[in-house]
Amino acid sequence: MYTFEDMQKMDRVRLGNMVPLELFRTIRLIGMNQGLPMGGKGTTLTVGRKIGESLPVSSVEDLLALFEELKIGIPRIVYSDEHRLNIAVEDCFCKGLPTLEEEKMICDLEGAILEGALSKLLGRRVSVREIKCNATGHEYCEYEVKL
Ligand SMILES: [Zn+2]
Repeated sequence: MYTFEDMQKMDRVRLGNMVPLELFRTIRLIGMNQGLPMGGKGTTLTVGRKIGESLPVSSVEDLLALFEELKIGIPRIVYSDEHRLNIAVEDCFCKGLPTLEEEKMICDLEGAILEGALSKLLGRRVSVREIKCNATGHEYCEYEVKL
């Protein structure tokens, strides 16, 4: 079984360790969102949680730093109390895409990654919901975490 650490082992001489954002978007939006039944809802949640659980992080700060290092987006905590945490994400992978006509937020995988990682960190199931998205005309994406 592969681990996240395995993913960091690279030996690709000519093309290096980066792939273009349009490839990530194509996998996410054309492959998963448009290619799976029901917009890939359940599958995306399962995939995202699994990814989140695999991340080698030992604190929320670590997680937010890795989220940025992986260039998913630049997260910051905009609200926090004992029941709720709101995380805004600037420069999300979806920034600049044409705005969708329907009120359909598209960064569900990224929320599920946060959900998996936070559930593992806190030792109990938390739930994460995307409440703002560039793709539906907001200035940034934002997740609400129910602790
Ligand atoms: Zn978004």
